[in-house]
Amino acid sequence: MNGCFPVAGLRCLSRVCCTLLRDGPTLPSPSSAAVRLLRTLVETPPADTSLLGNWWWMCQRRWPERLANHPLPGGLLLRPFSLAPSSQDGTKMAEPGTPRFLLVFDFDETIVNENSDDSLLRAAPGQKLPDSLRATYREGFYNEYMQRVFKYLGDEGVKPQDVREVYEDIPLTPGMTDLFQFLNKQSSCFEIILISDANTFGVESSLRATGYRGLFRSIISNPSGPDGHGILVLSPFHSHNCPRCPSNMCKHKVLSEYLRERARDGVHFEHLFYVGDGANDFCPMGLLSGGDVAFPRRGFPMHRLIQEALKAEPPKFRGSMVPWESATEVRGHLQEILKKC
Ligand SMILES: [Mg+2]
Ligand SMILES: [Zn+2]
Repeated sequence: MNGCFPVAGLRCLSRVCCTLLRDGPTLPSPSSAAVRLLRTLVETPPADTSLLGNWWWMCQRRWPERLANHPLPGGLLLRPFSLAPSSQDGTKMAEPGTPRFLLVFDFDETIVNENSDDSLLRAAPGQKLPDSLRATYREGFYNEYMQRVFKYLGDEGVKPQDVREVYEDIPLTPGMTDLFQFLNKQSSCFEIILISDANTFGVESSLRATGYRGLFRSIISNPSGPDGHGILVLSPFHSHNCPRCPSNMCKHKVLSEYLRERARDGVHFEHLFYVGDGANDFCPMGLLSGGDVAFPRRGFPMHRLIQEALKAEPPKFRGSMVPWESATEVRGHLQEILKKC
């Protein structure tokens, strides 16, 4: 069965999980549904016990508070199982002190208050592109267009250092410094990554200038950097089959692969938090479930798309939504979550 786990590719405990998926969302008391299903599981355990971990993990993500230490028939307690096979199977166990939450950031118009691909034009001669180049843009092929922009800048003698300075000067969004300072103090709770359809050279330059590059465990973006001739070049991040996303990057696929990689390391996050603004930040929203929080920038495409998904019947978005105008609002919400945990 596909699609029931945020971590793509993991097998599902189909007998229990199918029932949970079918009945769970509509039942008034999901905890009793989960207990009933668990009772079934206890009475007739699956032959492959490694699948128990999958089922438990899914229950936890749907009803995190209600399932904590829930008593079971016969005095058994629910015990968290690892999604990854045990260490006896050759995979790693999580290190002590692993962050409980994964916090994902977009970059353009989320961390910085501009679309950095537009900001880049400040490095171009006359701070604009020739009409002949702009005319080559084709919808759905933006990355290819930006590759041509990079080449044009190089041909015009723009040096990587000139481009770096442009990225360093892009202003942060309101409240972002406040949020970064908070995260710096709470670094043991959050694993922080960035997924951006901009480029690695620009994102790294910008974050280093802020002094907060060290907050991020991983910067996932389209590869870019000087080639052998000192000219900046750009490449697509990957290929995928998602019909909703530009050909060079599907953030759903990126985040799925990241979660799967961390699960192989023995790291399983209690909740996902996602701060973004764009339409391409909506695709990974399918990975969020109960207790996870999307922080869309208020009035931007991601906000509108989540609102539409919430209105659908049944709702196509299962997490919580906290729109923000200042990143201080994100900080405030994360602070509240830490107090409750
Ligand atoms: Mg953005
Ligand atoms: Zn996608």
